[in-house]
Amino acid sequence: MKIVLEHITKRFPNRNKKQGGEIVAVDDMSLEIAEGKLVGLLGPSGCGKSTVLNMICGLEAPSEGRIYFGEDDVTELPPERRGVGMVFQNYALYPHLTVRQNIMFPLQNLKGEARLGKAEMEARADEVAALVQISDYMDRKPRELSGGQQQRVAIARGLVKLPRLLLLDEPLSNLDARLRLRTREEIKRIQLKTGITTVFVTHDQEEAMSISDSIVLMKDGAVHQIGKPQEVYDEPVNLFAARFLGTPAINVFDARIEGNKLYIGDDLISEAPGIADRDVYAAIRPEGFVCRPGGRLRCKLMNIEVMGRDTSLIFRHGAKPENCRAIVSVETSRQIEGSELCFDVKPSKLHIFSKDSEERIAIEGGNEE
Ligand code: ATP
Repeated sequence: MKIVLEHITKRFPNRNKKQGGEIVAVDDMSLEIAEGKLVGLLGPSGCGKSTVLNMICGLEAPSEGRIYFGEDDVTELPPERRGVGMVFQNYALYPHLTVRQNIMFPLQNLKGEARLGKAEMEARADEVAALVQISDYMDRKPRELSGGQQQRVAIARGLVKLPRLLLLDEPLSNLDARLRLRTREEIKRIQLKTGITTVFVTHDQEEAMSISDSIVLMKDGAVHQIGKPQEVYDEPVNLFAARFLGTPAINVFDARIEGNKLYIGDDLISEAPGIADRDVYAAIRPEGFVCRPGGRLRCKLMNIEVMGRDTSLIFRHGAKPENCRAIVSVETSRQIEGSELCFDVKPSKLHIFSKDSEERIAIEGGNEE
C-alpha cells in the first residue's frame, strides 16, 4: 500500500514554561512511500522522526496536513483502524506472558468480522514465528530470550495482524554491534518476503543506508533530502546531508573559487567552470584522495591507522584546523615515506557548497572520474 504525507506539520506546546510558545516538531513535510518499499527515516536526535511515525500510525494527530493510505484519507482514523504494525526500540513485551501469548496478544482485541478463533490465532502466531525464526522458543518467557530473540518476537507481534504498513522505531538500538548487523539483515529479508510497505526510523546512517530502498533525511523537523541511499551519498544536496552520511565523515575545507578554479589554501585542486569567484566549502570523501607524489593537495601526515583491509591516513592541511582522514589501500600506505603527503582528488568524491546557504554548487562534469 502506498503512503502519502501531504504538507504535514506538528506543533507541540513548549514544555519549557519560561520560553513559552510552540515547538515545531515536524515542519511542512511531504512524502510519498511507494507500495512494498522499505523507507529509512534518518536524522539526528530530536529531528522529528518518532513524531512522523506517531502521526502515520495515529498516536498523534497532525496540526496541519493530510495522511493517505492508498487512496484513503486516514488523517482522522483512530490507530486501531489503520492496520499498522508497530515495533519499538524497547520491544515492550509482556514479561508474564510466553512468546506465543505475546505474539497472539494483538489478535485478542480484534472486533466484529476480524475476530479469530483460538485455533486460527495459534496458526497465525505459528506462521509469523516461523517467518522471524523463533518457532523453537514459543513456550519461553521473554526473560529467557536474548535481546535479538526478543526483538524478533516484537517483530512477529507487529506482523501478526497482517498489517498494511509496518513501522519500526529504532528497532536495533538495544542490540550489540554484531546482533544489529544480523537483525537488520533479518528485517530486510522479512520485509522482502512479506512485501509490506515499511518505515524504519533510525539515527544511524549506516543502518539506514544498508537496508532502505530510499532514505528520507530529516533535520529540525524538515526533510532535507529524499533518495536512494547511494544517490544521497553521491549527490548530497547540502552540507548537512554530506556530513550526515558516510563513515568516516566527509572532510570539509574552507576553500575559494578564483578564475574558475577551486583552491584549498594555496593549492589548486580542480577546475570549476561556470562558478563565480567566491568563498566556498570544499568537501572530500575519505575515499576520494589519491596519494601520489606531486599531487595537488599538500598535507602533513599525522598518523596512520591500520584497519585490516584498508588504512586511514590522518593528516592536516593549512586550510583546516582539525585532522582530516583519507582511506587508502594498505599497499599505498606502505609506500609513504616521511611526513609530507600529496593528494589528487577524485572528481566524483569532491563537492562544493555555498558558504551562505550551505547548498551544493554543481561543478560541470563534476561526477565524472
Ligand atoms: P530521537 O531520535 O531522540 O527519538 P526524534 O527524531 O524521534 O528524536 P521526536 O521525538 O519526534 O524526535 O521529537 C521532535 C521534537 O519534538 C523534539 O524537539 C521533541 O522535544 C519535541 N517533542 C516530541 N514530542 C513532544 C511532546 N509530546 N510535547 C512537546 N514536545 C515534544
